[in-house]
Amino acid sequence: MTQAVLQGDTKEIWKEVLLKLYSNVPQSQFLTWFKNTAILEIEGGTLTLGVPTSISFNNIADKFLALIQKASAEVLEKEVCQVQLRVDGSLHKKDMRVVDIVRLARTAAKKNEQRKEELMTPTAVPSQNKRSPMVDGSMEETASQIVSSKSKYTLSNFIVGPENQLAYAACCAVSKAPGESYNPLFIYGGVGLGKTHLMQATGHEIKMRFPRKKILYVSSEQFTNELIQAIGNHKTPELRRKYREIDVLMIDDIQFLANKQQTQMEFFHTFNELHQDKKQIIISSDRPPKELDTLEQRLTSRFEWGMIVDVQFPDVETRSAILRMKCKERGIFLSEEVIDFIAHNVHSSIRELEGVLNQAVALYELSQTTPTIKTIGPVIMKLNQNRMLQGYTYQNRPQTRASTIEEVMDSTSIFFHVSKDEMLGASRKKEIALARQVVMYIAKYDLGHTYEKIGELLGGRLHSTVMHSCNKIGNMLKKSDDFKRDLNSIRLDLGLM
Ligand code: ADP
Ligand code: MG
Repeated sequence: MTQAVLQGDTKEIWKEVLLKLYSNVPQSQFLTWFKNTAILEIEGGTLTLGVPTSISFNNIADKFLALIQKASAEVLEKEVCQVQLRVDGSLHKKDMRVVDIVRLARTAAKKNEQRKEELMTPTAVPSQNKRSPMVDGSMEETASQIVSSKSKYTLSNFIVGPENQLAYAACCAVSKAPGESYNPLFIYGGVGLGKTHLMQATGHEIKMRFPRKKILYVSSEQFTNELIQAIGNHKTPELRRKYREIDVLMIDDIQFLANKQQTQMEFFHTFNELHQDKKQIIISSDRPPKELDTLEQRLTSRFEWGMIVDVQFPDVETRSAILRMKCKERGIFLSEEVIDFIAHNVHSSIRELEGVLNQAVALYELSQTTPTIKTIGPVIMKLNQNRMLQGYTYQNRPQTRASTIEEVMDSTSIFFHVSKDEMLGASRKKEIALARQVVMYIAKYDLGHTYEKIGELLGGRLHSTVMHSCNKIGNMLKKSDDFKRDLNSIRLDLGLM
């Protein structure tokens, strides 16, 4: 006889399944479709998953059923697990059975990050490293670093598009066979387009594949400073030894060696020795070797021995994909609409894209609002020196306080994707009812309308219905920070906060 699984356990089981699903489902879809879901029962080999609406039923059935079955089988330690879906309109955040999907996504993002770090940590610290003067000696005090487990840059979190495809492919090739082809690898491109990311990611990939290899990442400034320090301390021979013992040398932003004759000479010798020994060298720069006219020609001509690749500013699809990836890493949710908006309106670098995202995170966390086009708009405007924004029509609207229920319905309708007619009508569908109740709440507490007046303006509803709705929203606000953020976004849009 099979025993039905107890209810408390099903929630834990569903959490585990969701954690497994997280990496395989795009974040925005994960947060949208698995919101307010719960295991209703597990009986024999069948798991019944409750979903809140028929829309989520269809989407999960179409896209994720096979994944859920596989993950559930793993969690339940069964060969196969049948999963059936059932719409259960009573499932919402307050329900004890429901998993808090936003919190779970954050946990999953953190776990992924930790896992990545574990993977990056060389399993065995090569014993000869310990004996090496460069690890034990005073040189270790200096700024340059052996690639370690801490970098957040990997090849798997680098988004590939037409503008960086060749650079990415070259880095992959180098990481598989360092020193064998493409030596040196020279990556150039403008500021904030991913050169440092690609370089460090390549270093990590090499470290994972060849844990014994000594990999050094150094910025040109660090290299210069080390040299100056070594000269001052009469330790240039040690410094030379340190650099020549390396298997993979990455030097970032080589253009900063301009006009530093002695540093260039030192680098020239290091380069030659490493190259002769078939050690991999990776160089980045803001321009191609030919245009590095402040560097000695004998140096730049060597850069042309290997492979030269560039990174360019990515197109809008790649930009959106990068944003989605960064949101996922940070465990925050931005609607597709907002992602699209940011991607369309950032025109110079990925670093700028991240800057906007940081502001969105700050909005989310500090001012307790869900980022919307309206709140993100001014942030981008500032960065763009007030250039007009695509898809943003509010900037000239004076920020006045809304005073009519019409205005409240306008903003709420945009936020919840529910039409005004639906709000005025009789439908009890959950999302429509919620939007309607939010309008009532704002009309009551921000506009100061009476229950009677609100009922009348909202399609002739009873005073008691309005009162009940306002209480309900009041309770939801007490219980859920996410809901509070949503409501605050609407209030902000209306100039009410
Ligand atoms: P650069 O060295 O070219 O000035 P960085 O490598 O420092 O630029 O990149 C700036 C930021 O943009 C980093 O946080 C990096 O992770 C991110 N970035 C750039 N390109 C990509 C990409 N294709 N995929 C993911 N993140 C990217
Ligand atoms: Mg850089």
